[in-house]
Amino acid sequence: MQKIEHIGIAVKDIEESNKLFAKLLNTKHYKMEEVESEGVITSFFQIGDVKIELLQATKDSSSIHKFIEKKGEGVHHIAFAVDDVNTELERLKSEGFEAIHQEAKDGADGKVIAFLHPKSTNRVLTEICSDKNA
Ligand code: ZN
Repeated sequence: MQKIEHIGIAVKDIEESNKLFAKLLNTKHYKMEEVESEGVITSFFQIGDVKIELLQATKDSSSIHKFIEKKGEGVHHIAFAVDDVNTELERLKSEGFEAIHQEAKDGADGKVIAFLHPKSTNRVLTEICSDKNA
């Protein structure tokens, strides 16, 4: 793992939260992007070399919708930058971590990503990601 790449925060209304986080962080989001396969719309803020990713569900089957139903809005996941998602995924699985994705898939913001199941990581939903063209 190289560093924390971003922190994901589940929100109900991304337009409202864009305004809130712009005030909190004193900077505007630099992009919004829909990830249709995950049923989410995302927006990104850059804070130093770490990003904040806001996530709003676009459909009821989205994991963000389920998360907010269960726990309300708030911190959803921590994403770590890695050299190669598939290589790191194999290492983590060999260490006994449970993967949600068995191989890297396309994520937002030019990344390939994979998630580990929170029940194997002290209930911290953990994402690993690398640049799509790395
Ligand atoms: Zn993320």
